[in-house]
Amino acid sequence: THTVHRITSGQVVIDLQSAVKELVENSLDAGATAIEVRFQNYGLRSIEVVDNGVGIAPRDHEGIALKHYTSKLSSFEDVSRIHTFGFRGEALSSLCALSDGLTIATATASEAPMGTVLEVDGNGRLKSKKAKVARQRGTTVTVANLFRPLPVRRKELERNIKREFQKALSILHAYALVPCSKENKGVRLTVTNQMENGRKVVQLKTDGTPSLRASVTALWGTRALDNVTDLDLSFHVETEKSVLRRQKQASTDSETSPITPVRVQGLMSKFTLGAGRTTNDRQYFFINGRPYNAGKVQKAFNEVYRTFNISQAPFVIADLVLPTHACDINVSPDKRTIFLHSENNFVLALKVGIPRESVFVCA
Ligand code: ADP
Ligand code: MG
Repeated sequence: THTVHRITSGQVVIDLQSAVKELVENSLDAGATAIEVRFQNYGLRSIEVVDNGVGIAPRDHEGIALKHYTSKLSSFEDVSRIHTFGFRGEALSSLCALSDGLTIATATASEAPMGTVLEVDGNGRLKSKKAKVARQRGTTVTVANLFRPLPVRRKELERNIKREFQKALSILHAYALVPCSKENKGVRLTVTNQMENGRKVVQLKTDGTPSLRASVTALWGTRALDNVTDLDLSFHVETEKSVLRRQKQASTDSETSPITPVRVQGLMSKFTLGAGRTTNDRQYFFINGRPYNAGKVQKAFNEVYRTFNISQAPFVIADLVLPTHACDINVSPDKRTIFLHSENNFVLALKVGIPRESVFVCA
């Protein structure tokens, strides 16, 4: 069964990036306001995420890394109203199966400054439990030797580690920007990498200021804001079903909310030549504060700039704020692919909206 588990686990944790992403999302779900991500040897030796969130309650210790163990969802219907990043209870159990195991140090508010250290084996079972260990409120999860139980995957990770590490950093940049677009509460995020020779490099550091501009500055320096303007669009998207019905003139008004209100907020390059980026490595998209692979929406932004004869890809941070019924996050195991209902109409509205709202304001 362990083998089967390893295969199915591969869907949530497919690479270094998704391993890091799952750990950071757990910290955000726990309400952390400070998160530190520590890589050792680019994550090959270990990945450690330290947070000051609510901690893991003692009643959850035993089953914490068992498959489908989650404290976040009580009934299946809740999936449509999900506000946490996680809800399947697969990440920790997958990480166990795909590594040399996890060490978890945790303390809830009532336990701090004492906590518990849990060691979990490859099957997600509790191997040891040490109580009364000094620990502030929060949780530290350490993953040792990612992919070691799968020699081929491990070799591949070792071979491509620099690139895999960059990918992991890029998702961490997205999370450094999330809270600003979401709830304005800001998270202090620190990312370090300790090399084999012991040298520690700070890769990224935000100070928790609840401002998107402040986070951008913290990540890329003040120059990153040159030629950047606020993005704030509001429009309505008609569902494809509703359009069809209207065209057939068979409107019955029976369907609820055929029109979806959408707000797109963030930052983007001004429509001036030379203002953009030569690559699209600074394009971050979110739906209701959840990072996602934007596909057509990302393409729409790039195309609008092209119609203004700007050949470079723009800097874009865009959070699409929409009702939860207008999208489906439950389509891919890593939750990065989000199905946007009526995406084509959405993209059309966006293409009209971007230049109208911005060109006059800031060009
Ligand atoms: P999910 O996030 O889908 O619930 P995970 O496997 O990622 O599943 O985590 C399992 C459970 O472990 C979570 O539901 C949560 O109760 C607990 N947990 C994991 N990481 C943390 C953390 N950093 N702080 C508090 N609780 C955590
Ligand atoms: Mg999770």
